[in-house]
Amino acid sequence: MAYDTRLMSGLIDLHTHSTWSDGTLAPAVLVQLAMQRKVEVLALTDHDTTLGLAEASAACAAAGIAFVSGVEITAGWRGQEIHIVGLGIDPDSPALQQHLAHLVQLRRDRIVAIGARLRRERRFADRDLAAEVLAAAPVPTRMHLARRIVAIGAADTTQDAFDRYLGRGCVGHVPQEWPTVEAAVAAIRAAGGQAVLAHAHRYKLSGGALRNLCAEFAGWGGSALEVSLPGLSPGDASRLASLARQHSLAGSAASDFHEPGLPWRPLGRFAKLPDGIEPILLRIPHV
Ligand code: AMP
Ligand code: MN
Ligand code: MN
Ligand code: MN
Repeated sequence: MAYDTRLMSGLIDLHTHSTWSDGTLAPAVLVQLAMQRKVEVLALTDHDTTLGLAEASAACAAAGIAFVSGVEITAGWRGQEIHIVGLGIDPDSPALQQHLAHLVQLRRDRIVAIGARLRRERRFADRDLAAEVLAAAPVPTRMHLARRIVAIGAADTTQDAFDRYLGRGCVGHVPQEWPTVEAAVAAIRAAGGQAVLAHAHRYKLSGGALRNLCAEFAGWGGSALEVSLPGLSPGDASRLASLARQHSLAGSAASDFHEPGLPWRPLGRFAKLPDGIEPILLRIPHV
């Protein structure tokens, strides 16, 4: 049964993270928060892993929340890092898991390379932060490194850690090439899922390039664009809605929730989308 968003009074959220990637809440704790906020439909979409889905699904069943199995796949397009959310995926799909295993290996190799650069520059000489991250995080991200840099007092905030050590132009910056968007969409479709282009307003692409990306994404079998996100400027909101309409893409409602400490990115979005945009939720069975 598909959820009819026109009948919904509560919130939905089709893009969230847990401790299996760079979120700070375990899946069951994320679901508790969703219940408190009266979220009716929740997707867990950790970066490049499906390991949290079983726990989230069970917790949602107990909480009476409709659950959508998801993942956020890291990809590259014209030298830009692009994120593709998969919704309604079968986590047992061998093609999907093979793709994710490759991404996790790239991530681990990158963290090792960043750690080597920080050591070579004699930063945090007494601590091997990369090794600590690799030992603790199933899917390591640079956010894990940033949090450790803050924890040892070498930066005030994770943003400060990126500005001083990890961001572009800093000692610990290691560029990364990712598998293509086309391959990400194919892996999601092989797992029976719908592919959603995540937070398109955040990419550093010209208007023309973003239109090209949307056209190619639709051509490769992509289904939707995130159009309802927290903190969107009115200009970005209308640009995303126009892109969805132009390329006949459905729309998704997505907080990209990572942690409760960021009140400007709360869990849950109102289900209603801009006029003329089909909710992607209608295409996801058994939610
Ligand atoms: P990774 O996937 O390993 O590149 O880590 C990405 C995470 O780090 C993202 O979820 C962002 O929250 C954060 N991040 C990446 N680049 C920056 C930056 N320049 N400033 C602040 N945070 C960043
Ligand atoms: Mn993240
Ligand atoms: Mn993302
Ligand atoms: Mn995300």
